[in-house]
Amino acid sequence: MTNIQLIDKLIEKRELDEAEWTQVFSTYDQADLEYAMREAHRIAIGRFGKKIYFRGIVEFTNICRNDCYYCGIRCSNHNIQRYRLDEEDILNCCRDGYEHGFRTFVLQGGEDPYFTKEKMCGIVRDIHDEFPDCAVTLSIGELDRDYYQALYDAGASRYLLRHETADPEHYSMLHPQKMSCENRKRCLRDLKEIGFQTGAGIMIGTPHQKPEHIAKDMIFMHDLRPEMIGLGPFIPHKDTPFRDEPRGSVDTTLLVIALCRIMFPDALIPSTTALGTVEAEGRQKGVLAGCNVVMPNLSPMEVRKKYMLYDGKVGTDMSAEAGITALRAQMEEIGYEVVVGRGDFKASEGEIK
Ligand code: SAH
Repeated sequence: MTNIQLIDKLIEKRELDEAEWTQVFSTYDQADLEYAMREAHRIAIGRFGKKIYFRGIVEFTNICRNDCYYCGIRCSNHNIQRYRLDEEDILNCCRDGYEHGFRTFVLQGGEDPYFTKEKMCGIVRDIHDEFPDCAVTLSIGELDRDYYQALYDAGASRYLLRHETADPEHYSMLHPQKMSCENRKRCLRDLKEIGFQTGAGIMIGTPHQKPEHIAKDMIFMHDLRPEMIGLGPFIPHKDTPFRDEPRGSVDTTLLVIALCRIMFPDALIPSTTALGTVEAEGRQKGVLAGCNVVMPNLSPMEVRKKYMLYDGKVGTDMSAEAGITALRAQMEEIGYEVVVGRGDFKASEGEIK
């Protein structure tokens, strides 16, 4: 079958097998990409209209016990100033965001042992009490099931944890030995079972990534059925072992976004900061490939440059307000309306084709 026929099959059946996925990722051309994007965009508009959900992200700590080879805040990077926000700072970011119309707050950080289960649950509870009409999303890495359950009970309803790669061997090329693909997948299954709206996802173009790996990622996500999917190009960071590796391709990123949208018409798929970093119009292209979420940064100005996961991250030199205004303008430029509201995952009733 041609790639166009495979994309049609995906629209029809919402799945492909490993060999078919591998073919698409290893042989796609510009026409295939454009076809996938057009179809994905059509599906997204059919499901959500020309609407974009905004989520405010608060990067509350860059202290991390992990040492992922790709990440700028890995523990062996001694070239950065470490910080953590206290609870009052975090609440102030949310207050700011609330004023701007945000009804979802995403708390993201390194795996910082200072934030024990009790502390983190306290913070979630306080945000939840002060903003009962808002969703609290967490992105704080791998924890045990009891900890996830406690966070859920405290009022968090969504959790972002990209699986990074579903292939154990590839995983071990991106992470030190003490981290495992198995544990990452266990976390995702726990989160789903507990009842979180759960986000999985990958970086595109990480070192050693092959089309076969992305094929496995698609199958992993097909089986997991995440409510949210985070996708962005890998971008090297100067103080990591991958400093000299090439960045991931925008086209392949857009292709993966489009195929995820086709596979999951209802999913919440952000057009990521990484995509906006590699190309000025990256986040607009993401929306045209089927994304329906953007996540402006609500972190205080003083800490933004310290949460550098990769070099050149956009938005680190502007205020929350300026960042929101710029993103809103970008979305309006392509005819999209920014929506205020929690924007929870909803499974559609009928078939959307
Ligand atoms: N500690 C949390 C949050 C990690 S940062 C966790 O483990 O989930 C969020 C995401 O940024 C990561 O999941 C990774 O996919 C992405 N990221 C990290 N380094 C990156 C880089 N160099 N280029 C692009 N994306 C990167």
